[in-house]
Amino acid sequence: MMAAMDFSPAPATQALVDAIRAFMAAEVLPHDAEWLQQPFDELPLEPLRDHVRAQGWWAPSLPRAWGGLGLDLVDLALVGEVLGQSPFGHYLFGCQAPDAGNMELLLAFGTPTQQERFLRPVAEGRQRGCFAMTEPDTPGSNPTQLACRARREGDHFVLDGRKWFATGADGAAYALVMAVTNPDAPPHQRASVFLVPLPAPGLTLVRNIPIMGHGGQGWASHGELQFDGVQAELLGEEGAGFMLGQARLGPGRIHHCMRWLGVCERAFALMAARARGRSLTADKTLADQPLLQAAAAALRARIDAARLLVLHTAWTIEKQGFKEARTQVSLIKFHVAQLLQDVVDQAVQVHGALGLTSDTVLAYFYAHERGARIYDGPDEVHLLAAGKQVLR
Ligand SMILES: Cc1cc2nc3c(=O)[nH]c(=O)nc-3n(C[C@H](O)[C@H](O)[C@H](O)COP(=O)(O)OP(=O)(O)OC[C@H]3O[C@@H](n4cnc5c(N)ncnc54)[C@H](O)[C@@H]3O)c2cc1C
Repeated sequence: MMAAMDFSPAPATQALVDAIRAFMAAEVLPHDAEWLQQPFDELPLEPLRDHVRAQGWWAPSLPRAWGGLGLDLVDLALVGEVLGQSPFGHYLFGCQAPDAGNMELLLAFGTPTQQERFLRPVAEGRQRGCFAMTEPDTPGSNPTQLACRARREGDHFVLDGRKWFATGADGAAYALVMAVTNPDAPPHQRASVFLVPLPAPGLTLVRNIPIMGHGGQGWASHGELQFDGVQAELLGEEGAGFMLGQARLGPGRIHHCMRWLGVCERAFALMAARARGRSLTADKTLADQPLLQAAAAALRARIDAARLLVLHTAWTIEKQGFKEARTQVSLIKFHVAQLLQDVVDQAVQVHGALGLTSDTVLAYFYAHERGARIYDGPDEVHLLAAGKQVLR
């Protein structure tokens, strides 16, 4: 039964969102298409991160005790959307994937020593981490099939296997790695999560995997990793890997949806501006064309509806806990991921040939956000999970 909701933000939240929106509009959105053409390590991002810290905006999702803003999920949704307008927004605010999810996992399951060593430097923006679960030779959609092995040697574990698509592995200070500790256990108790400080003997960054023909580096990369006898320490309980993975991915999925709404709004704004500014004839622009008006109205309705779904899911998690919101999370995961593709595609179309160039962020969104329908559970997995529940 759906309870009544009030989505009007508190005045302090609204002021925060407005201030961050103004910052993004002035300092980030005019530059990000150009930044995407430059090596990540050479970008002028540190002074902007310092500004974010100085404003007290750093790490919106992290508890205040760890130097964050401690926003609840509903307020975070509003901020996350504003940051999501740019591929750099979350990085500038210290809440980028995969670090935001890793930090949540370390907060919930790390020992005080692990938190000091692995969480604090990332929380302060001095280091980054990565998360290595997916493997080239086993299905990421079903992590009970993982092949990477962990065997106990004295007081630590040793890892062997291959991982790929570990976002930001290049230059990361540690890796969270999911590996099988007991292949004979029931499927959901076979794997555990490990911490590996980087660089580590026996661990090779085989390559940064190009996405749709584009290589990345640093945080903006996806690494393929080979583990040959790599020493690792356990995070949480042995055999709890699947549970930890779910604990990390659950909030991660809603964070992605918040960010994707920002992508939708940016693409929509670019589309609208281009349509208004592109003259087709002496007295008519693209925005005067009924076909485009109809397409824009349909997308507008879908974006606004998607925002309500995401806010409602965030609100449900806050009020009733994550378990109660599991089906909603699956619904928004595939729904917003598909909407994102459609909005970006339409915006590219309206830009004509310009949409395919690197002169706007659209081509980047088109290539890199295609993954939205695949990572953190492909569409099909969420359709099936939600489908079972909604028919019950
Ligand atoms: C940009 C990006 C960043 C990523 N970052 C990370 C990261 O930081 N760490 C990490 O560990 N992984 C990461 N991943 C990997 C991601 O989590 C996996 O790609 C995802 O879990 C899917 O696994 P897979 O690629 O092995 O696809 P598979 O499991 O082989 O699935 C292939 C396809 O099969 C279909 N399918 C799957 N299950 C079903 C079903 N039940 N019914 C019908 N069809 C189905 C889907 O269409 C799916 O896309 C990232 C991926 C991308 C694209």
